[in-house]
Amino acid sequence: MPILADQFKENVLTTRVDWLLNWARLSSLWPMTFGLACCAIEMMAVGAARFDIDRFGAGAFRATPRQADLMIVAGTVNFKMGERVKRLYDQMPEPKYVIAMGACAIGGGPYYKFGYTVMKGVDRIIPVDVYLAGCPPRPEALLDALMALQDKIRRQKVVRTSEFPPIPETTSA
Ligand code: SF4
Repeated sequence: MPILADQFKENVLTTRVDWLLNWARLSSLWPMTFGLACCAIEMMAVGAARFDIDRFGAGAFRATPRQADLMIVAGTVNFKMGERVKRLYDQMPEPKYVIAMGACAIGGGPYYKFGYTVMKGVDRIIPVDVYLAGCPPRPEALLDALMALQDKIRRQKVVRTSEFPPIPETTSA
């Protein structure tokens, strides 16, 4: 009988790299401390004891984009602020995710028609992973959006095998 037989059953866990990294990422999202208008009040409620976003591992709001991997765009994005939003997004390290919270962030909301200073959707300047409708969405809805984002992260491919660009063909004279 081999010496090592049955020695590791209790101590060794085998899994896929994709699964492990995705699990780590979705279980410890760090949102940026960042709010633009009324929707941000609902976002703040999510961070408090009643709704308790900590249950989902996303309660460590960071005061700098360099330590955050989740931007919750909670509120009206006007053109002047849009430049700052873009800059903050650019300063976040990869991988990073965005939730557009509320009608304003999705498409201008009540300012769509006459709000000439309001951007008609934050996805014009940064990529959005989850759109959360409402004016404002309730805190439970934001938690639902967070879980939708976690599902999306769960399905991500971390180890890329077939996404390299094809080798360009060469022609010989
Ligand atoms: S969607 Fe409604 S609640 Fe949210 S920022 Fe716009 S006006 Fe305010």
